[in-house]
Amino acid sequence: MKNTYFTPGPAQLYPSVARHVQTALDEQIGSLSHRSQGFRRIYQHTADQLREMLRIPDGSGIFFLGSATEVWERVLQNCVERESFHLVNGSFSGRFHAFARELGKHATQVEAPFGEGFNAGDAPVPETAELVCLTHNETSSGVSMPVAEMHALRSAHPGRLFVVDAVSSAPYPDLDLKLIDSVFFSVQKAFGLPAGLGVWIANERMLAKAEQLAAKGISIGTYHSLPSLFKNFRNYETPETPNVMNIYLLGKVAEEMNRQGIGAIRRETEAKAQRLYDFLDRSASFDVFVRNPAHRSQTVIVGSVAPRQSSQPKTATQVIEALKAAGIVVGGGYGSYRNQHIRIANFPATSTEEVERLVRELGKV
Ligand SMILES: *Cc1c(COP(=O)(O)O)cnc(C)c1O
Repeated sequence: MKNTYFTPGPAQLYPSVARHVQTALDEQIGSLSHRSQGFRRIYQHTADQLREMLRIPDGSGIFFLGSATEVWERVLQNCVERESFHLVNGSFSGRFHAFARELGKHATQVEAPFGEGFNAGDAPVPETAELVCLTHNETSSGVSMPVAEMHALRSAHPGRLFVVDAVSSAPYPDLDLKLIDSVFFSVQKAFGLPAGLGVWIANERMLAKAEQLAAKGISIGTYHSLPSLFKNFRNYETPETPNVMNIYLLGKVAEEMNRQGIGAIRRETEAKAQRLYDFLDRSASFDVFVRNPAHRSQTVIVGSVAPRQSSQPKTATQVIEALKAAGIVVGGGYGSYRNQHIRIANFPATSTEEVERLVRELGKV
């Protein structure tokens, strides 16, 4: 029996991936030169599909990197001379902040307790911060930052650059990329693809900042600097030999998502999330970990295994094992919450029917 993966990345593959992999093999994409017209057509197709889906403005570049972790480093190298400011509420946003320090930047932050979010709209952005780093969806805790708050914060600080880590939520958040300067994600989360590709979207303000730093003699990296990425992108090329297979697959999956309509996908995501939260809320064996409904993630649902009336309390590990026996894989809690939480990815690749089956099996344990 095949498993259904509700893990928050790598996750369940989008249902058509196997078919697209076969087509890619039939078309010998694995041997295609990245300096060929064939590759440029693949790059352009994927970029066009993403542009339509995420309403990416014309001047913004769409770049393919190794992973989102790499994008953290590139963002900081290219767009911060001295100071970045971070909203930290879990392991991923914390790591983004730590990278800034490791790169020798003056990295300031506000921190929320694990499981809590921000009223980001009134975050104390220092006068001197050049770049503000937001994490839309904190994969470790299941806390999400309302999009309207990110937009409000951005509008209140027009002189800075704003970058959003939407790694475990894109394409769910309806970000206004005329306001937000840059957003990035990895494909093994909500796009339902094999790992090994990070997607970085950045506008011309980001490029101008990188050029300013370079002109001052500050290192902005080499092949994956913004000037190098933009220059290649204008030709639908990449500085290095990229993950052509995954770029191709992303274009195919994005095309299908566009055909279905991103609005419909977002509504289905919300309906499935509601189903899961309602179940956790009513269950005697589980609780919703994130208390504030406005900060609950729609794409990574965290349940605490905190029995109230349950006569035979279970640990998260026991719940995970019981689900596995039914062919369902969910994530464990992050870090020290490993045995207290289950983390359930609610990505487009898992259908309403599969979520119903998960709820039934959770009801049995
Ligand atoms: C998974 C994740 C990352 C890192 O992605 P990689 O593909 O492992 O580099 C960064 N930020 C968030 C919020 C994530 O969930």
